[in-house]
Amino acid sequence: MSETSMQHPDVESVLFDEETIASIVKRMGEEITRDYHDRDLVLIAVLRGAVVFMGDLMRAIDVPLAIDFMAVSSYGDKAKSSGVVRIVKDLDMDIKGRDVLIVEDILDSGLTLKYLMKNLSSRKPASIEVATFLWKDIEGKQAAINPKYVGTHCPDAFVVGYGLDFAERYRNLPYVGILKPEVYS
Ligand code: 5GP
Repeated sequence: MSETSMQHPDVESVLFDEETIASIVKRMGEEITRDYHDRDLVLIAVLRGAVVFMGDLMRAIDVPLAIDFMAVSSYGDKAKSSGVVRIVKDLDMDIKGRDVLIVEDILDSGLTLKYLMKNLSSRKPASIEVATFLWKDIEGKQAAINPKYVGTHCPDAFVVGYGLDFAERYRNLPYVGILKPEVYS
């Protein structure tokens, strides 16, 4: 069976299909366009998961913008953030005085982004905000940062697709789905 044409056998259920994703991205693009029309916008995506969302979001924003990428690696268990982050690839661009918007695929504890925001803030951008496609904001659990733009809320399950992987697989699924627990346990 093809990897992407139907629901993948390792996926328990589809949470957000292509059509839903497209309408979410369109809405976020409109919000960002409205807020950044007279600014100096730089979108920064965190590799590799945010690449798919970045590609869609940048085309939904109708103001001049630049893009750049960072890669970080978290220590320890990939399914659970430790907040201890190492920069594997830094920005190519100087962000001093510019309006930075970090583009993220999924926000869980927020520890990864908290570290990144602190690091990027030290480079003196004019502003720094976060746009996340998914937010696992579960009751009783407070994220370490507060994203300005949120695509949609996500249940506390391990999700894949639309850029999100497990062991580097499933990034190419055009939808977001819950991975069957037996695949990763
Ligand atoms: P945080 O630091 O907010 O807890 O974790 C954020 C990062 O953990 C995301 O950028 C992503 O790489 C990974 N992550 C968190 N939850 C999931 C999930 O459900 N599925 C996948 N594939 N990655 C996740």
